[in-house]
Amino acid sequence: MTETTIFSKILNGEIPCEKLHDDEYCIAFNDISAQAPVHFLVIPKKPIVSLSECMLEDVNLLGHLLFIGSKIAKSKNLSNWRTVINTGEESGQTVFHLHIHFLSGRKMKWPPG
Ligand code: AMP
Repeated sequence: MTETTIFSKILNGEIPCEKLHDDEYCIAFNDISAQAPVHFLVIPKKPIVSLSECMLEDVNLLGHLLFIGSKIAKSKNLSNWRTVINTGEESGQTVFHLHIHFLSGRKMKWPPG
């Protein structure tokens, strides 16, 4: 059973967001605490806790999330961005509903902190 999260509340309309995309499988919206001039999240409508919970049946969905994020980034005329998926608390995951960060608009550092 999946817990209620901020993102499940965004999905059911309880919490507003700056939506960039909405389709049968996912939504994308701006991160409320942007870490770069462009910072948006792509999340599946399916309540998956994290990447480690994904099943073989989710392979197409995972590809779709990446493709949609890339499409949004290109629609913003971006050609450079960083894609991040935090998996587990120690990696920095704070919301336990799978999400992909897309960050752009500044020079990124490596290795990440
Ligand atoms: P993570 O730390 O990888 O779990 O990322 C969770 C992200 O969700 C953080 O970057 C938060 O700033 C973002 N976030 C939390 N609440 C909201 C919200 N209500 N609307 C948009 N983004 C949010």
